[in-house]
Amino acid sequence: MKPNHVTIVGGGITGLSAAWYVQQETARQGIDITYSLLEQSDRWGGKILTETVTGYGARPFIIEAGPDSFLSQKPWAAQLARELGIADQFLPTNDGRRQTFILHNGRPTPLPDGVMLIAPTKIRPFLQSRLISPWGKLRMGLDWFIPPKTDDTDETLAQFIQRRLGQEALDKIAEPLLSGIYNADAELQSMMATFPRFRDMEKEYGSLIKAMLAAKKSRTQTSPNGNAPSMFTSFKPGMEELTLALREQLTGDCRLEVKVERLEMGDWRLAGNLQSPITQLPNYQLHLSDGTTLLTNAVILAVPAFVAAHLLADVAPQAAALRQIRYVSTGTVSLAYKRDEIDHPLNGFGIVIPRSERRRINAVTWSSTKFDHRAPEGFALLRVFFGGSRTPEMMDVPDEALLPIVQAELREMMGITAVPLFHRIYRWQQSNPQYDVGHLERVAAIEASLPPGIFVTGSPYRGVGVPDCVKQAKDTAVKVVGNWVTE
Ligand SMILES: Cc1cc2nc3c(=O)[nH]c(=O)nc-3n(C[C@H](O)[C@H](O)[C@H](O)COP(=O)(O)OP(=O)(O)OC[C@H]3O[C@@H](n4cnc5c(N)ncnc54)[C@H](O)[C@@H]3O)c2cc1C
Repeated sequence: MKPNHVTIVGGGITGLSAAWYVQQETARQGIDITYSLLEQSDRWGGKILTETVTGYGARPFIIEAGPDSFLSQKPWAAQLARELGIADQFLPTNDGRRQTFILHNGRPTPLPDGVMLIAPTKIRPFLQSRLISPWGKLRMGLDWFIPPKTDDTDETLAQFIQRRLGQEALDKIAEPLLSGIYNADAELQSMMATFPRFRDMEKEYGSLIKAMLAAKKSRTQTSPNGNAPSMFTSFKPGMEELTLALREQLTGDCRLEVKVERLEMGDWRLAGNLQSPITQLPNYQLHLSDGTTLLTNAVILAVPAFVAAHLLADVAPQAAALRQIRYVSTGTVSLAYKRDEIDHPLNGFGIVIPRSERRRINAVTWSSTKFDHRAPEGFALLRVFFGGSRTPEMMDVPDEALLPIVQAELREMMGITAVPLFHRIYRWQQSNPQYDVGHLERVAAIEASLPPGIFVTGSPYRGVGVPDCVKQAKDTAVKVVGNWVTE
């Protein structure tokens, strides 16, 4: 064991990326720091998990258990993929068929053309849409005139949308689309932590509609032929391409099936194999599930916040606010069909379901329309979401009861009566961190309370999306390596 050592706990996208950027930064700066990456399960990738099912044609079904893509607008995941040499595997969404449906009175109803995220930018399709009542449309239009909130205090997503666009826009559009992304409750969800851009737009343009129109205009000017990059990107073999490529290119001490159970202050003199104790750098001792201990100078915790709270109970009890970051559990069911056994045209990316519709599932993605390479020729793949803040009781429904419920929902919403060729159910317990109002202040307080050499990073803190996790991992790695350089 060398004294200049970093330990990264958690082998999801955040931990793997942190290891990669520690490796890159130390090589770039020519300094000698070794690292260990410890993952408790028997596989790398955490919530990024792709399953391949063959036997139905020349191509396999590619099934995502967790994320199916990343937001293209946030550059960090794509940048990482380029560094790893897998950019040739990028898979954009089929934007020619991009259409989102919102369940309205039990029927999938198209989100009107020109509604960008939440605000309308095309008058005619908006006025013709059945989704919003005439009064609701009028109320949304008032956004043009309502003065902006100019201070930087946080508010819930529900408060923001009610203030600018009205209750109906919240119920029919913002809640299923914007809270849906976070599996959040709009009445608790922090605006500043989840959609700060809308607050910036409000401030800058005085109105969301004006801001969206300006964004649309500048996009048309930069891309006059309409070939804007797709909104989401995946990889042809599935999202796990990213975590597999990462693991392949890590040269450090990477261990699976090793759980970190406890952290305490370390003492290098106890290590025995060191030439001289390091006095300047902090030292920590990790107790591992295989009965061994690991001495290290810095620890990057890329694990859920409640796990970080547990691990830090001895060395940083003041970081107990980590426990205030709430989690919800979610699940997905992927269902494979013969294409000609489904009458539905699958003419879009799927259906989001407002809470007010009171269904037992949250959304359906038409995976084989959204992306190529997801189902063999002549077959279709759908993915249903359940659990979260919307349908938490569904997490306790056993698999054999869950499938008939999902089939009944698909029958009622889309008229699908066919029996799926096969299905896959994935449950993610305590998986989705909730950015409740005041989240950013909470995170800043947690970070400020950490002792030297301890870092927390990843989805619980400054963004849940894959690109956000990569960015946070990179920032943390640069900080950790920077600490050595400035010692
Ligand atoms: C169903 C679902 C769909 C999603 N869809 C999208 C999407 O389309 N696009 C998008 O950008 N994001 C999406 N997300 C969010 C995104 O996938 C996650 O935020 C991200 O993958 C989290 O990565 P992470 O490395 O921070 O955490 P995790 O992936 O949870 O990794 C943490 C790792 O730490 C390990 N660990 C925990 N405790 C210990 C310990 N004591 N010792 C050692 N190891 C430990 C765990 O086993 C785990 O592997 C989705 C999430 C879910 C659940």
